[in-house]
Amino acid sequence: MKDLIKKLTEVYGPSGYEHSIRQIIRDEVRGYADEIRTNTLGSLIALKRGKGKGKKVMLAAHMDEIGVMVTHIDEKGFCRFASIGGLYPLTLLGGRVVFGNGTVGVIGMEEKHFERGKTPPLDQFFVDVGAKDKASCPVKVGDAAGFSRPFEDLGGRLVAKTMDDRVACAILIETLRKLRRCAHDVYFVFTVQEEMTLAGAGTSAYGINPDMALAVDVTDTGDTPESNHMAVALGGGPAIKVQDSGMVAHAGVKELMVRRAEEAKLPYQLEVLAGGTTDAMAIQMVREGIPTGCLSIPCRYIHSPSEMVDYGDVENSVKLLLAILSKSIEL
Ligand SMILES: [Zn+2]
Repeated sequence: MKDLIKKLTEVYGPSGYEHSIRQIIRDEVRGYADEIRTNTLGSLIALKRGKGKGKKVMLAAHMDEIGVMVTHIDEKGFCRFASIGGLYPLTLLGGRVVFGNGTVGVIGMEEKHFERGKTPPLDQFFVDVGAKDKASCPVKVGDAAGFSRPFEDLGGRLVAKTMDDRVACAILIETLRKLRRCAHDVYFVFTVQEEMTLAGAGTSAYGINPDMALAVDVTDTGDTPESNHMAVALGGGPAIKVQDSGMVAHAGVKELMVRRAEEAKLPYQLEVLAGGTTDAMAIQMVREGIPTGCLSIPCRYIHSPSEMVDYGDVENSVKLLLAILSKSIEL
């Protein structure tokens, strides 16, 4: 799976600009799904039909990534930007971004206004694409860029931009490929615009109207020096969400996930995330409510250009999804 994770994480795809990553995922699921379609807003839905009297299950992983959008270009060709998703100013200076047309930019900062010991606000940063002036600038207002950073295999741990949430896209693809003896109709949904509005998840869930849904996304950890208190660690197994700042997981779904993990003797952790949410928030509020849970992959340095996951957690996430899908689903 490492090759697949490398392939997916290095692709360009800020929220609203998922065309390239969607095409790559479409190629990866071809031949394994019974039906593949793209819906109105651009989410990709691969359906694997069940054999028997099962339920309608939706799995969601988002294809989009955080990034920057050009808001203004000055006479010298420096680009000011708005954030696409949550950007931390601390992670920006000296970083590189890449635009849809291949233009690479370096993130610089207003030196004059820098106060030692203080993190500058986002509006004191700019992107330098190497232009001599405004007229020759190769990007324009409204153009979007993502971080530019190669995947690295550190052995047990993997680092890349967009582990959030391409690692979950890889987990869904691998689950689809390995799924045998399943009674349920499983909709593998690769959603758009999670980092901005969760628009892909809610609209896809409305169309599918599943009996149960799981978002698969990364979550924070509490295992780095002087980190916030959080009982999730890299390598401790997939995390089963109890609650985050946008949703309370459906109790029946959460208990089903715990039960299947214990039966399969898979390691797992219970997740309570103080800040942040996932596609699960939008899915559970569709129609009269969809029973929704979330399987989280522990990840360090989320929303930085170097997001780190444990490969064992990734493999165990696939195993847990297979354990859930291969048995009956009673909530
Ligand atoms: Zn995410």
